[in-house]
Amino acid sequence: MQTLHDIAPLRARIAAVRRAEGRIAFVPTMGSLHEGHLQLIDEARRRVAAESGGDSAPGLVVASIFVNPLQFGPSEDFDSYPRDLDRDAALLDARGCDLLFAPSVRTMYPVAQTFRVQTPPELGAVLEGAFRPGFFEGVCTVVLKLFNLVQPDVAIFGSKDYQQALIVRHMVQQLGLPLDIVAAPTVRAEDGLALSSRNAYLSADERARAPQLRQTLLALAQSLSDAAASAVMSPAALAAVPHIEAAQDVALQRLRDLGWSPDYVEVRSARDFCPPQALSAEAVSASPEAQADVRWVVLAAARLGKTRLIDNHEWQLLPPA
Ligand code: AMP
Repeated sequence: MQTLHDIAPLRARIAAVRRAEGRIAFVPTMGSLHEGHLQLIDEARRRVAAESGGDSAPGLVVASIFVNPLQFGPSEDFDSYPRDLDRDAALLDARGCDLLFAPSVRTMYPVAQTFRVQTPPELGAVLEGAFRPGFFEGVCTVVLKLFNLVQPDVAIFGSKDYQQALIVRHMVQQLGLPLDIVAAPTVRAEDGLALSSRNAYLSADERARAPQLRQTLLALAQSLSDAAASAVMSPAALAAVPHIEAAQDVALQRLRDLGWSPDYVEVRSARDFCPPQALSAEAVSASPEAQADVRWVVLAAARLGKTRLIDNHEWQLLPPA
């Protein structure tokens, strides 16, 4: 694996691959890599292998490691965010990554980055965006810049950061960027905790309790599915709607009782990210096909001690018949 820190050699390598008509798959990260990141590299490799032209155009799997100051708030952990480039490079190399781009802040932002990507408030100012003002603007700005440098055909993101993957997908569509966005499944520890670089901040006791976040989301999903399954006259999704706020409150209270400080627990439609409360009878036909198609996602962020964790769970409201 080649590691590059500067833009000029990166552009040269990308241009050579492009000339040979190789495909480029890209995995942007902030480093401190774990199995979740490495499975994105596997997915990138599969995409490149499936669509490249064999030995004549072998394609390229590119990862980036850049702790992006633009997406950290003033009281967040930019300075203390875990960094270990040598370890990360060895992991990427062992996993078959071809090129690591690891620029400095000065390389990415040689002058103040005053041009920024503004995100639509209904996507970028809710949930994570409500609690971390400017976060998605910072993410989109760096991701757009990295896309311009790496020129990927496909970029792989993790579903663990569900809202982030969704916003990047919308950005790519609305700005007409010539690449596909893939959201890969969340990789979890055996006890269900979503792998995250920030798990390193947890004490042993907190680590043992951390799966409670996922368990709370699964319980919420089950309670709404139970409400939907009891529907007699109305479509299942509509039958579950009145229960959403109560289910969110139960989940928030459960987390508080377990010693967490939750920022939010919110249910959204997986199709359009609207609150399901916005569903209308017209929008939800009672046909079995439409009912089988109703997918919701519940997203949450909560602090355990000093560590803020996020997770989400997407599910089909009614099990397939
Ligand atoms: P980060 O370095 O935390 O910014 O994450 C870089 C990429 O890895 C993002 O697309 C994340 O969604 C993804 N990612 C982080 N944790 C996981 C995980 N547990 N499973 C799958 N993808 C993940």
